[in-house]
Amino acid sequence: MPTAQQTAFDKERRRQLGRLATITTATRERVLSALRTAQDVIRRRLAANASAFTQAQSAAALAGVRGALTRFERDGDAAWQQGVGQAFSAGGDLIEKPLQAGGIGIVSTVQRVDSRQLAAMRAFLTGRIKDISSEAARAIETQLALVIAGAQAPQDAINNIEQILGGNARGRAITITRTELGRAYALASYERMIAARQLVPGLRKQWRRSGKLKSRIQHDLVDGQIRDVDQSFDVGGEKLRFPRDPNASAVNTINCGCTMLPHMVKWDVATPGRKRFTPEEVAARPERGELNELIQRQDIKRFVAKPSIHPVAIGALDLVLRTRIGTQSHDVLLSSATLAKQSAHHPEIDVDDYAVVDALIATGEVYQIEPQVYAVYGRAKGKLYKAVVKLTKSGKANYLVSLRRANQSELRRDTRKGVRVQRMLEG
Ligand SMILES: [Zn+2]
Repeated sequence: MPTAQQTAFDKERRRQLGRLATITTATRERVLSALRTAQDVIRRRLAANASAFTQAQSAAALAGVRGALTRFERDGDAAWQQGVGQAFSAGGDLIEKPLQAGGIGIVSTVQRVDSRQLAAMRAFLTGRIKDISSEAARAIETQLALVIAGAQAPQDAINNIEQILGGNARGRAITITRTELGRAYALASYERMIAARQLVPGLRKQWRRSGKLKSRIQHDLVDGQIRDVDQSFDVGGEKLRFPRDPNASAVNTINCGCTMLPHMVKWDVATPGRKRFTPEEVAARPERGELNELIQRQDIKRFVAKPSIHPVAIGALDLVLRTRIGTQSHDVLLSSATLAKQSAHHPEIDVDDYAVVDALIATGEVYQIEPQVYAVYGRAKGKLYKAVVKLTKSGKANYLVSLRRANQSELRRDTRKGVRVQRMLEG
């Protein structure tokens, strides 16, 4: 793709990937707002009768409760039906809109499939909102029966009812919104890819992990996996056509935030392989660190073999170092321009050398040598290296601008002239 089309493709792909979260948030808020409205009505109904709770008053209160829950069912279902339709439509757009933006309009001729599986999801959602509502109704009835029997104070019953609606019912509504909308999104992407694969030779699919701190370890491991459109991903011993596949087990799908991306070998995308873990993700689960080293090595190798317009992350700054040097991004990036300059001036620096940059940053001595420019000295494989990292003016990105072997006298000079922001960790 020419650069202008590549830029348009990237921009549209990013935009499309953000849509599911927006749709999910809006839908969740609508469902929760319907639940809160029901909760308010129920609270008022019960409070009005709290002083003298007779059988007759209880029956009247219960009728009010049922009415409020029926409205919740209706409004909640309407929100879900709209949300699932929007998610389905966005999931299809993820496949074809970036291609159209990139000047490949061929997919737009694909007929939108009327999905039987979407119809099944819609029916499922209607069933779930009825479940939530009738379960709440039963729990409220039990509470009121206890009051009438004199086994519970009215105020305690009111508090318990608040907890039922604000706790269990709310939690289920949130989980179902996230899981089912995500399911519809991925299903639509899948169906659209099946329909498009004849028109787009070489089209495949790739699993992308969610980036949640507490993700499933199996989903972290499957990140980056590429499959033919009609082949399944291997996810912790189970075959999934796409994340949240309705045919897969609940344990492998509920609350999953992973994505399925269309993939073509020739596309120049920001994350062609696996997605690196951020320092915060590694801190949340240290075994990710080892995986990160592997991912980083693959990334660097790929980038050196085939430079991309998207810079590659070759190191990460932890929160302490980020705060000290005043940057917003944890990635230290290598651009293809720097790589070309490096191969001209420092041909001795190869993939293995770039692969140590992350360790240098984590354990090396860091000096500020100019505004926004930092020299990192560190030892790896018995050699002393100097890496220079430059922050962009906005403080939103950090680039490696040079990497080479260094000697002690250089280090001594920067020790005298620079401002130390990190001490070398020895041993
Ligand atoms: Zn997942």
